[in-house]
Amino acid sequence: MNQQTVPFLPFSRPEIDEETILGVSDVLRSGWITTGPQNQKFEAALSEFCGGRPVRTFNSGTATLEIGLRIAGVREGDEVITTPATWVSTSNVIYEVGATPVFVDIDPTTRNIDLNLLEKAITPRTKAIVPVFLAGLPVDMDRLYAVARARKLRVIEDAAQAFGSSWNGKRIGAIGDIVSFSFHPNKNVTAIEGGALVLNNEDEAVLAQKYRLQGVTRTGFDGMDCDVLGGKYNLTDVAARVGLGQLPHLERFTAQRRKLARAYFAGLGAGAAAKLGLGLPHADFENSNWHLFQITLPLANMTIDRAGFMAQLKERGIGSSLHYPAIHLFSLYRARGFTEGMFPHAERFGATTVSLPLFTLMNDDDVSRVCRAVNEICERYGN
Ligand SMILES: *Cc1c(COP(=O)(O)O)cnc(C)c1O
Repeated sequence: MNQQTVPFLPFSRPEIDEETILGVSDVLRSGWITTGPQNQKFEAALSEFCGGRPVRTFNSGTATLEIGLRIAGVREGDEVITTPATWVSTSNVIYEVGATPVFVDIDPTTRNIDLNLLEKAITPRTKAIVPVFLAGLPVDMDRLYAVARARKLRVIEDAAQAFGSSWNGKRIGAIGDIVSFSFHPNKNVTAIEGGALVLNNEDEAVLAQKYRLQGVTRTGFDGMDCDVLGGKYNLTDVAARVGLGQLPHLERFTAQRRKLARAYFAGLGAGAAAKLGLGLPHADFENSNWHLFQITLPLANMTIDRAGFMAQLKERGIGSSLHYPAIHLFSLYRARGFTEGMFPHAERFGATTVSLPLFTLMNDDDVSRVCRAVNEICERYGN
């Protein structure tokens, strides 16, 4: 087929149904467009999804992480353990609350925190662990929580990418300590922008509400007080309505993503790319929601670099993205003492990974097209 006639396949694209679009119009006409009844419904639906645990919505997954840390009591002088293979917000918020991120390298197979290295990173100043479920693949929750419990550490799960994932049949969000979700447009479920924090009890939920909106509490018609230094992190009702409209589709979304991921394995498991040494993700179809399909390029065997590879995909009408360069090598982190060689697996992964298109509106033919393109590029630029 002539390349020009094939529509561009983006890296990601949200699926929003007509009922939701109409529902958003209703909210806009209702006279109440910021945090209100739609948020209450969204929080109730999320709470039900999380086995009845208290849930509070926020305007981003970054806000939920930061407030999760505050609720866990993380403050100046504390250390918080996480990995460098994540979106930089994960560790920026650790600095934001006055604490210090302590990175642990990833396991190159799962690309999540290497639990064999976790205990060695714990010091008397360690207050919490922020495990990242990269691409929606949870870490081994039994092992993680065994260490957290034994060492009396709080856990704030960065489950931004893991809405709809599970661990041994139990939903992420329904188990664990504090859990943080994001509803950014690229995530498996979106609220345009937004996040949700899953909490342990009503005290934490009240604190979350305070942090979410200036620390203010109101009583009666005219009583107002501020007893916590909160911020401005509330979610609009327009956003909450979009999020509500996603939840009925969640199971189909996850099933479709798993199906597409299987098609990727079939298309890339053999052929020119495989021969060249292209790396594939951990093949888990039970726990992961397949938020991303991240390959790693065998750059030593290629005559183009990663940017060249992504440009070749684009020339073939295919979008791609990058999740993530190792964050300890960003300027801000280098200025705080991190250097090359500290976390070799995260560095190698960050330097070679590419995220291929994966979203619910794709079909198997789209995956075949991407796989053909990847194999063709590897054939042409392999050495
Ligand atoms: C998206 C994401 C975040 C931040 O969520 P926002 O809603 O974009 O603020 C944090 N951590 C990870 C791993 C993410 O993927």
